[in-house]
Amino acid sequence: MPDVLRVAVPVPLPQLFDYRAPPGETVAAGCRVVVPFGRNKRVGIVVGHAATSEVPAGRLKTIDAVLDDAPLIGAELLATLQWASRYYQHPLGAVLETALPVGMRQAKPLPFEGERALTLAAAGRAVAADPPLRRGTRVRTLFERLVDGPLAYATLDETLPGWRDSASALRQRNFVETIALSTATLPTARVTGPTLTDEQRAAIDAVAAEHGRFRAFLLEGVTGSGKTEVYLQLIERVLAAGGQALMLVPEIGLTPQTLRRFRERFGASVFALHSGLAEGERSRAWLAAARGDAGVILGTRSAIFAPLPRLAIIAVDEEHDASYKQQDGFRYSARDLAIVRARALGVPVVLGSATPSLETLANVEAERYTRVRLSARPGSARAPTLRVVDMRRSRLVHGMSPELVTAVRDCLARGEQALIFRNRRGYAPVLTCHDCGWHADCERCAKPMTLHRARARLVCHHCGAERNVPAQCPECAAQTLAPQGHGTERLEEALVDLFPQAPVVRIDRETTRRRGALEALFDSLGPDKPGIYVGTQMLAKGHDLPNLTLVAILGVDDGLYSADFRASERLGQLVVQVSGRAGRASKPGSVLLQTHHPDHALLGTLLRGGYRGLAASLLAERRDAQWPPYAHLALLRAEAKQLQQTEKFLRDAAEAAGMPDGIDLAGPIPAPMPLRAGMHRAQILLSSAERARLQHFLPAWIDALRALASARHVRWSVDVDPIDL
Ligand code: ADP
Ligand code: ZN
Ligand code: ZN
Repeated sequence: MPDVLRVAVPVPLPQLFDYRAPPGETVAAGCRVVVPFGRNKRVGIVVGHAATSEVPAGRLKTIDAVLDDAPLIGAELLATLQWASRYYQHPLGAVLETALPVGMRQAKPLPFEGERALTLAAAGRAVAADPPLRRGTRVRTLFERLVDGPLAYATLDETLPGWRDSASALRQRNFVETIALSTATLPTARVTGPTLTDEQRAAIDAVAAEHGRFRAFLLEGVTGSGKTEVYLQLIERVLAAGGQALMLVPEIGLTPQTLRRFRERFGASVFALHSGLAEGERSRAWLAAARGDAGVILGTRSAIFAPLPRLAIIAVDEEHDASYKQQDGFRYSARDLAIVRARALGVPVVLGSATPSLETLANVEAERYTRVRLSARPGSARAPTLRVVDMRRSRLVHGMSPELVTAVRDCLARGEQALIFRNRRGYAPVLTCHDCGWHADCERCAKPMTLHRARARLVCHHCGAERNVPAQCPECAAQTLAPQGHGTERLEEALVDLFPQAPVVRIDRETTRRRGALEALFDSLGPDKPGIYVGTQMLAKGHDLPNLTLVAILGVDDGLYSADFRASERLGQLVVQVSGRAGRASKPGSVLLQTHHPDHALLGTLLRGGYRGLAASLLAERRDAQWPPYAHLALLRAEAKQLQQTEKFLRDAAEAAGMPDGIDLAGPIPAPMPLRAGMHRAQILLSSAERARLQHFLPAWIDALRALASARHVRWSVDVDPIDL
């Protein structure tokens, strides 16, 4: 009997595909193979072997080629991917599609080893902070790109045409040198860390004591308490022992500044891995990890799938961040998979946050995770004071209470910086007619469109639809269309108007579209001049702002009365995270929360007990209500052009489910947005006190759903551990 290869093919089909190995060849699991698939060729991954196949011998095809001599995906990673495929109920082929960079999914030989790269030489690094090169020149641009680490010639060819001339100029001054990337591996610590505080030392000792063993830690420490320093020194030890480290950060956390901080410590062995990279760079980082050349992978969500044969520690910064959960396709949680992988590998994993998720806190409570704390900020930095500003009956100035405006004025007068936080981009969330009450809605979502004044467009933030701003009311022809409410664009305008002498820097998705724009904006205000930042949650993290002493948070009320059971947790996290920007250096900071509901219980709890107090009360609520983390959820979402199609499918789905033991089934119920982009949406929520019950129930149910006739008219998906209901 010929050896049958079981191959995962990156297509959205649930099954593996069987192929015959070429006569006389054995192909190891984890190797890539080119297979005939329908009328095409595909690159698949060998997942295992079988003696027989259900495919009749005569129809079993033979693979075309084997692409790797040795497994590209090691046994541990393959096992993790298979686990994730089962747990998140997603086809293995499609899981691989998420896990593998595009370059690895093509029937091309891998880039050869020892690729040439340009890097800063010692003389260049010495002047990296302030290079003696004229701004705006190509030479300077090249130099600045290299500050972040070595760049392969291929990458430079792609992204900086004509770079070779600039490189010659830099080479003449001994600022740069050429290296082979695969030799750029040894961690050459360039900057040593500060002397640790006692708490930092205790945290590091606790984690390091578990070297070579699985153990999950929660590193709980307010913003600025030195968590990153703890990760850095833990990683340093791991590298010294010959291991590799994986460090996950949220999407907005991976700023060039973070990367620079890691590279200052560990030199060229740090590779970034995130979706913003050019394909070539992504493949290169991935391969460097797989070959063991990368000491540290610093990446966002999908970096959890990096192949790291000597992985000895995983750290997840800001573990509560929603960006760790993928919200479409393969809906995995990178934070949770970090635990799974660490357990499989037998290595410690550190989840860090100033505002840990309730899930993680419950795991600490249940003694599955060990908590280590950083309670104080190093040096003289103190936690900011939090105050509620009652905006009822006060005459608002551009959406801001007089008290708040005064606080900003005083802050500027002291020569310090203020941050106005509003998690709404655009000019105004609604455009209405004063005469008849008409407002501009997105027809495809039945929600107000946001006015973007500078672009003179109405934009739907739910589906991206855009249209022109009408000159008059389409309903009554009155010329009295007026923006309602305040987005960041409008606040910027107001602040410029109120404080004409102060620089105002707006930071949101609009102003930071270009690569590097975020850093440039922070730099434009500089560390010590007075000025005002206004923006969305992009401001919650990133750059150190030592002269920032006032944070004003607008729009908290949106989060106080939301239907989402996680809204309170999120609001608490956001308030604490944004507040953490104030008073990070020696100057004390203060935080103002502007609200119409100063007596709301959540605000009271937060003010009195901080995030810890809030979390304790929210956990008690969740326990009473049997919500996560004290229950486990899976959500079946469906959408169709017609409401009846969605409803029919979900009714059939509920019927197919029957009355599963130990599982509550709610629905069909409307989705939080019953209409989006023209699709009618609804869902069924499954809940169980035991994770295993859901896991046992889901596969057969999903098979049944696939077979439903009504499934043909809907788009549906199952989300295990959903974070948006
Ligand atoms: P977090 O990650 O918790 O926000 P960081 O590690 O970034 O905190 O530390 C905040 C600031 O304090 C940084 O500027 C960092 O260099 C500095 N820092 C961290 N640990 C120490 C220490 N032990 N002594 C002095 N400064 C420190
Ligand atoms: Zn009107
Ligand atoms: Zn829309």
